[in-house]
Amino acid sequence: MKKILLLLTISLLLSHSLLAQNLTQNSVDKMNAVLEKVIEAYGGADRINQLQTMSVQFNDANFAINQSRRPGPPWDENKTSGSSHIDLQQMIFVTNNKSESPEQNFNNTTIINNEQSYQVNKQAKTVIPIAQPNFLNTAGPFIRVTPIMLIKQLMQRSQSSHYLGEANVDGRNHDVLSLVMEVGPAISLYFDQKNHMLTRSERYIPAFGLIGYRFTNYKEQAGMPFNQSFELIINEEINMKRQNLSYTINKPITEQTKYDTSFNVLPIPEPAQPDPLGRQEIADGVYLIGGTGTYAMFVEMEDHVIAVGGTAGIPERINLLKEVVPNKPIKYGVMTHHHSDHILGAQAYADQDITVVSAKAHEATIRNATDKPKMKLKTIESEHIFKDQVRTLKLIDIGPTPHSENVLVAYLPDERILFAADHFGLQSPGNITPAGRNAQEFAKALKKNNINANQILSAHSPIIATDKDLAQSVKMAQDTNN
Ligand SMILES: [Zn+2]
Repeated sequence: MKKILLLLTISLLLSHSLLAQNLTQNSVDKMNAVLEKVIEAYGGADRINQLQTMSVQFNDANFAINQSRRPGPPWDENKTSGSSHIDLQQMIFVTNNKSESPEQNFNNTTIINNEQSYQVNKQAKTVIPIAQPNFLNTAGPFIRVTPIMLIKQLMQRSQSSHYLGEANVDGRNHDVLSLVMEVGPAISLYFDQKNHMLTRSERYIPAFGLIGYRFTNYKEQAGMPFNQSFELIINEEINMKRQNLSYTINKPITEQTKYDTSFNVLPIPEPAQPDPLGRQEIADGVYLIGGTGTYAMFVEMEDHVIAVGGTAGIPERINLLKEVVPNKPIKYGVMTHHHSDHILGAQAYADQDITVVSAKAHEATIRNATDKPKMKLKTIESEHIFKDQVRTLKLIDIGPTPHSENVLVAYLPDERILFAADHFGLQSPGNITPAGRNAQEFAKALKKNNINANQILSAHSPIIATDKDLAQSVKMAQDTNN
């Protein structure tokens, strides 16, 4: 009996190890068989190997998920247009991006060309050299959305690829192969079993989720199929749609590496300064507290404090306030608007039993952003004035603006201090750039609402801007358009 058991165990062990070995070998064999058909379907190994440069013109529609003017779908669509140009041999990559929606106002070019690499801002007419150009990092997003480039890489790295399995996409059977990337996680590539076209790819980033691409509408050019459109899908929501308008194959792209020599060449900027959590007293009892890109204003009233802003890190910001205002409770926490990065503070305020204040239109979004949907919440229709013996604080809905249909700003009329999110801010002192439509409309909305601030605090900058900065920015935009 013992002998039989032993034999059984040995045979089980053997069959397991054989199985593992078979799994790897089968996977590699299957991968190679699929790849062979894919190469043929994409024009053959010679054509793919000879493809060294390509240019693509495109139009994009970007969907502003949880960042639209309204709290729910349909999300706002921001249209952009551009082109990308790649030379694999010389490791040159150029990409142009221009806003086509009036809300936004940009026209930028990135040139990666070894020592001659630049960021070009065609709106500001400036050129900034890139200190450490990185071809693969910069071209990565383009390569990931260009099937022929992915297949080229798959051919080069087939030794590290595996057959992941079969999957059904839109009623069609697909073979799925893995592709190891130089930068970032591996990609799963889905090839239609009938025509061997790449129809879908996926990457998984643990803290972020599933990033998927859908490639559609292939047309042949120079004996190779090129997709005329793709969609970017993040966690099952469409983030972006692209139409590829034209492809140019194997033509030199050196012309694209030039910039307008009348533009102002700026020095390479200093590396970004660390921005640790800090507290500034703007006026007696008025504090701007924050760091690393998110700030909130705290205003001392007679017997309590009003907090304004709901970005990340509210508990730490409250702790810094308590160091200087230990004896007054925070009574209100004001949410400027419903965007995902501006409602994080709702939970923090609700946890401390602070009444959250928001525009009426954002009530549901804000309640849903906490685990306390029955929290204390005060909603505001157009304006509310907090006034006591020591101070007046006005909350004004200055919407609609190009950024949000409703948006609360906090204004201290006596001190002429304004706190506003996402409409105007300086990234460094004196660094004033032409106003986009959003900042232009913001300036108009302030006038319309009789807001006459001379200090403008922003939810995303530690720099206190002035009314003159805003006026100059608006003027710069008008000058550029004239
Ligand atoms: Zn926003």
